[in-house]
Amino acid sequence: MAIEYKSLDELKLMRKAGLLVAQTLALIKSSIKPGITTLELDQIAEKNIRDGGGIPSFKGYHGFPGSICASVNDEIVHGIPGERVLQSGDVISIDCGAIIDGWHGDAAFTYVVEPVDTNDLRLSSVCEGSMWRGIAAAKVGGRLTDISYEIEKYINSQGKYGILREYGGHGIGSEMHMEPHVLNYGRKGFGAELVVGMALAIEPMITLGTERMRVMADKWTVTSVDGSRGAHWEHTFALMPDEKLFVLTALDGGREKLAELGVEISTLIS
Ligand code: MG
Ligand code: MG
Repeated sequence: MAIEYKSLDELKLMRKAGLLVAQTLALIKSSIKPGITTLELDQIAEKNIRDGGGIPSFKGYHGFPGSICASVNDEIVHGIPGERVLQSGDVISIDCGAIIDGWHGDAAFTYVVEPVDTNDLRLSSVCEGSMWRGIAAAKVGGRLTDISYEIEKYINSQGKYGILREYGGHGIGSEMHMEPHVLNYGRKGFGAELVVGMALAIEPMITLGTERMRVMADKWTVTSVDGSRGAHWEHTFALMPDEKLFVLTALDGGREKLAELGVEISTLIS
């Protein structure tokens, strides 16, 4: 499968899906509290996506039953929403995707339920920081692994974390998972050339322990082998025709977080 390059009009359509994902994740974040089940969060997400004119892309994807992935504590990604009740101090990662007019958005965040443990909070912020640095490293004329390199470099500069090897980011557009695969580690200067019209989902997954993971008997939930807690952050961004970035699944297009890293976002869409 070749890489799909999008026109400005197509990227504007992708923004609609991305914005719906952003709004849905914001709603879930504000709903997380001790006592709520992951299934209730899933129902909130599905309703918001459908009310917004979208289709939850996860639902039915290779048989996945939920509209979100909800992964708690030693679950790192792909947790199935269910009767699990959130407890104080839990670390939860929510991943969500939506389709509008055939175009996809995909994003995730990690949240620590109060009272927060400092190490858990740091785990999440290191993961988030690596995602933003990876996105900020995407420059027209550069190479795909420039992103991978920045993600790994930042994580390793912050302490000892396990970086999952089996999963990574991906191209996205008329399908959720497209070429190219984006590693969360590696040397820079390799892989596809970064050009205008590319849209990528960047999604580092890390643990407080080692990178060793396993898939549970439900065939979905990915947990750490050593029982350590995990974090997962994701955004979908595009390389715009003005050669600037725009984060399609961020409410502000990534303006604030990328400005902190010295990167100005595109003004071709909002
Ligand atoms: Mg995702
Ligand atoms: Mg993804």
